[in-house]
Amino acid sequence: MFDYLIVGAGFAGSVLAERLANDSDKKVLICDKRPHIAGNAYDFYNDEGILIHKYGPHIFHTNSKDVFDYLSEFTEWRTYEHRVLASVDGMLVPMPINLDTINKLYGLNLTAFEVEDFLASLAEPCDQIKTSEDVVVSKVGRELYEKFFRNYTRKQWGLDPSELDASVTSRVPTRTTRDDRYFTDSYQAMPKHGYTRMFEKMLDHPNIKIMLNCDYQEISEEIPYRQLIYTGPIDAFFNYRYGKLPYRSLEFKHETHDTEQFQSAPVVNYPNEQAFTRITEFKYLTGQEHKKTSIVYEFPRAEGDPYYPVPRKENANLYAKYKTLADARSDVRFVGRLATYRYYNMDQIVAQALTEYGKMVGKKRQEAAVAKAAVGNSNGSNTSVQILTNARLS
Ligand code: FAD
Ligand code: UDP
Repeated sequence: MFDYLIVGAGFAGSVLAERLANDSDKKVLICDKRPHIAGNAYDFYNDEGILIHKYGPHIFHTNSKDVFDYLSEFTEWRTYEHRVLASVDGMLVPMPINLDTINKLYGLNLTAFEVEDFLASLAEPCDQIKTSEDVVVSKVGRELYEKFFRNYTRKQWGLDPSELDASVTSRVPTRTTRDDRYFTDSYQAMPKHGYTRMFEKMLDHPNIKIMLNCDYQEISEEIPYRQLIYTGPIDAFFNYRYGKLPYRSLEFKHETHDTEQFQSAPVVNYPNEQAFTRITEFKYLTGQEHKKTSIVYEFPRAEGDPYYPVPRKENANLYAKYKTLADARSDVRFVGRLATYRYYNMDQIVAQALTEYGKMVGKKRQEAAVAKAAVGNSNGSNTSVQILTNARLS
C-alpha cells in the first residue's frame, strides 16, 4: 500500500515525492507518462555527447533563498547569467530593450538619462494597463512594440497581445541602463550536472518508486494508495467536462552543427520574419566544451503536448470552474503549472509544491523546505533511483 500516488515526475511531483518520503517517511509511487523523470526540465546527452534540454531552454533563476537552498541539497551549481539578442531590422540587439538596443537600432549615442526621455517621448500613456499590448506601448511606444513584441507574441500564443493578460509581456522589462541580463534575480545558476541528475538525487529514496511510460489511469485502479497528487492538466483530469482549457504547445527542432559556436548569444529571438520564435545554443547554458554544438528552434503550435497555460480572462473563468471541481475532491491535491493553470517558472513551482507540503504537515513553506535527512552527495556519481516498468508491476 502506497501512502501517495503522484502523477507527474516534473518539479511539482518530484519535490512532493522527496518531501513526503524524506521528511514524513511516507511511501510514494510517482508515475509519468513520459519515458523519463524531470518533466519539462528533462535534459540528456545527445548522440554527439552534448547536454541538451529536450523541451527547450530551461534557465534557473529565483529570488527565494529557501527555494535555492532546498534545491542545493540535490545539486551543485554553475553560476550563469542569461543573455538574449533579438534579430530586428537585420541587426542583433540586446533583449530586454536597453540603452544599447536603442542606440544600435537608431544609430544614436544616448546616455541613460537621455534614453529615458527618448522612450518617454515614444510612450503612449494608458489609463489602465489591462493587456500585454498596453504594457509595452505605454512604456516604449508603438514602433518598438511592433518591432519586438507584436509579431513574436502573435506567433508564440496565436493571439494578439491585446488579447492576452498584461502578465505575459510584463515578464520582459525595459531598461535604460546597459544591463543586458535577461533576469535580475538574486540567484541565477544552472544545476552543475544537469536537471535530470538533480531530479535523480531528489527521487533517490527507498520509499520512492517510479513508473515511467505510465499514464496514471492505467494503474490507479490496480495500485492501492491512500491519496492522489495530480500535476497533469486539470481539464484532462475531469475528462474535459467543461470543454478544453487552452494550453499552448511547441514543436522543438534540435540540430547539431559541426562547428564550435553557432550564434553569438545563448538565445537569439526572431520576432518577425521566421516561423520559429527563438534559437537556443545549449553549450552557453551548460558551460560544456565540445568541438560541435547543439541548438534548438521553437515553433509554436496550437496542438501537441501542453506547455503554456494561456493567460486571459476567458481561460481564467474556465479554469475557475475546474478549480471548483478540484476543491471538492478532498482525496486529490492539484499542484504544478498544468494542474493549477499558472504560467509559473520552475522556482515558482518548487515554491508552490513546498507550500503544499507545508499545508500537509502544518508548517510554513520555509520550514517545510528544510531537508531532514542528509541526501546523497551531488557530485554526479551514479544513483540508485528505482524505476519500475509496467511489466514488473504485473
Ligand atoms: P511539468 O514539468 O510539465 O511536469 C508534469 C508531468 O506530468 C509531465 O512530465 C507529464 O508527462 C506528466 N503527466 C501529465 N499527465 C499525466 C498522466 N495522465 N499520467 C502520468 N503523467 C502525466 N521555467 C524557468 O524557471 N526557466 C526557464 O528558462 C523556463 N523555460 C521554459 C521553456 C519552455 C519551452 C517551457 C515549456 C517551459 C519553461 N519553463 C521555464 C517552465 C518550466 O518548464 C515549468 O515551470 C516546470 O517544468 C513546471 O513543472 P511541473 O511539475 O508543474 O510540470
Ligand atoms: N516576448 C516578445 N518578444 C520577445 C520576448 C518575449 O514579444 O523578444 C513576449 C512574448 O509574448 C513572450 C512573453 O513576452 O511569450 C514572455 O517572454 P519569456 O521570454 O518570458 O517567455 P518564455 O521563456 O516563458 O517562453
